Parts: sequence; structure tokens; C-alpha cells
Amino acid sequence: MELLTAQGILIRRLDYGDSDLILTFLTKTHGKISVIAKYAKKSVKRFGGILELFYMLELVIRPGKGSKPAILQTASLVRPFEKIRSHVLHTAYASYWAELINLFLEDRASQDDIYFLFVYSLEHLNQKTLPADVLHILFQMRFLLISGFQPNFLSCNCCKKKLDYISGHTCYFDPKIGAIICPSCIQKRSNFLFLSKGTIKHLVWISTLDFNIIQRLKYSAEAISEGQAFLEKFVPFCIGKAPKSLLFLKKIQRKP
Ligand SMILES: [Zn+2]
Repeated sequence: MELLTAQGILIRRLDYGDSDLILTFLTKTHGKISVIAKYAKKSVKRFGGILELFYMLELVIRPGKGSKPAILQTASLVRPFEKIRSHVLHTAYASYWAELINLFLEDRASQDDIYFLFVYSLEHLNQKTLPADVLHILFQMRFLLISGFQPNFLSCNCCKKKLDYISGHTCYFDPKIGAIICPSCIQKRSNFLFLSKGTIKHLVWISTLDFNIIQRLKYSAEAISEGQAFLEKFVPFCIGKAPKSLLFLKKIQRKP
């Protein structure tokens, strides 16, 4: 069977028996691919110690026959994004993004815009060219957009009143319809998320503006914190699964 070559980022790494690893990569051309790396657990030298989370690698894979798994033949390092793994909070952010990708994407379904978003986010997290909490919002908002779950922040879903004309500082957000509802239209107040209008504007800027502008903007700490709390509820709701890495991330975020 013909070998497959692909550039990919390691998003999941599991032990398999005493000597092997099961690795999941997000690749540029073939979407998400899981492979077995034989003897990689037993001998770090087998793959030169480069099978680390968030490393971008050039892969040569032998596809599995029938129900047999694909086997990683060789791997060479393209970019390690090495500074991320030396920072606990940055590692927690990148782990959460990787888990979202792993939970949401089907195997072998190419989605290069998710790949480019992930590379872009890892690059800026690694280089610290944008505050990590802003980048965390950027990744999630653009992930929602690409995945077809973009929230409607433009106007109240019931009366269609535009955000700027809605009275008061707070809007309700219905995760089931993915849209805001103004205080005048709300009937039962349960099962809604709350968002201040200022936070909604921050979320829209971060998800739509060019990076050069995003980099120059000043952000309100309150809006960033409220935006993060909102997305960490809404994104798992959209994908219908609770990422395990979110618990770790929340624990780290709570530390002063
Ligand atoms: Zn309304």
C-alpha cells in the first residue's frame, strides 16, 4: 500500500501497551489522523524525541488495511512551538484547543481552515505577540465561525432590535438558538447566559478584525474575563461534549 505523507500537529498522545503510542495529528491535507507509533514509548530515540504535543511534524504514514490501524513510519520536525510547553497556562490553553479539534473533527475529513487557525494561534501563543487570554477568545470565536456555530450578536433574536439600541447594559444569550435576546423580550430567565454589551463588542472585534488591529486594541479585563467564561460554556454546548482539559484550564486560571 502506498505511503502517505502529510504535515501535521500532534494533538493527542496515548500509551498503547508497553512499548507503543497512539498519536492523533491534525494534518493540513488529510484532516485528523490517528496512527500507532511502534516502540515510541519504549525508546525515545526511535523517533528522535519529537513526538511531543503541539509539535508540527512532517509525517510518513503507512495506511492501515481494513480494520488495522495506520502506522507512523518516520517523522521529522518542522516547528516545535517550544515555548508553549514551558508555560503552564499556555499549555492549558493549547491543550483545550487541541481537545476541541479532536472532539469536533471527524477522522480524515480535511478542514484546512481549522488547521490554519490552530497554527496561527500556536504561533502567537509561542511568540507572545498577543495576550494569551485574548488569543484564547480568538481561537474559540473563529472555531465557532468555521464550525457553523457563529453566535448572533447583531440583534435581539425576537424583536430584531440592534445591539446598540437595546436598553440596559446586559443581554441574555440563548445557547440553544445561539443568539442574544434583549431584556424586553425575555420571558423565563432560566437557561440563559448573560453578556454585557461591552463584552459582546469585544467578542465581535476579536473574531472579525485583522490581526494588526487586534494587536493594537486595548481590552477591558472585565470583558475578557466575561468573554472567556461565556465561551467556555457555549463552545462545549455547541460540540455536545465536555472537554476534559477545561477542568485543568479552569483550575490554572483561578490561581492568582
Ligand atoms: Zn428583543
